[in-house]
Amino acid sequence: MQTQYINEMLNLPELKINQILSINADELHIEAVPLDDKQCCPCCGSDQAVIRKGSNDMRIVRHLSVFEKKTYLHVPSTRLLCTRCKAGFVWMYEFVGPKQRYSRLFRSHTAEQAFGSTAAHSARMQQAPVSTVQRIHNEAVPVEYERVCEQVWEEAKETTDLVLDVDDFAIKKGHAYNTGIFSAAITSHEIAVAIKQAF
Ligand SMILES: [Zn+2]
Repeated sequence: MQTQYINEMLNLPELKINQILSINADELHIEAVPLDDKQCCPCCGSDQAVIRKGSNDMRIVRHLSVFEKKTYLHVPSTRLLCTRCKAGFVWMYEFVGPKQRYSRLFRSHTAEQAFGSTAAHSARMQQAPVSTVQRIHNEAVPVEYERVCEQVWEEAKETTDLVLDVDDFAIKKGHAYNTGIFSAAITSHEIAVAIKQAF
């Protein structure tokens, strides 16, 4: 199979696929390397004096499934040295955070799926351990919270005839109830109808 198609499917422009290491009914292992040959030094921000200093073991990173198979990327963990700053560092990838074993796309996809259902469901869909999905989900919650707050605030500021409503809800039936404040933009005619119905 042409590796360029897989390259497009993986949606990781920083990488070039070297070879398919193995493929079976459940798993696909792909070896890939960065397109660039050096990176900027984290201290001086320049790549002028950066040299390669060998490699650690390959990093194995779980990525989004390809052909419904669990997909793992094997990428080099290249050591670099800035001879000017004497700073040693390891190749940083855009697609995966330092020391992480799941790619950013895998993490966001998994968290999104868990937001829409449950961690158990997302774990089944992603063929990943529930504890891993739970952790990814928990790490995504504060970020999602910030995003939703900002979005709601912006929408509220731009909305005329804003109506606030208070209601209670429980995450799980029979568990502690939370108070939620809802906002809605409705016309004054709708408010009049709602008030009439309430009495
Ligand atoms: Zn430097």
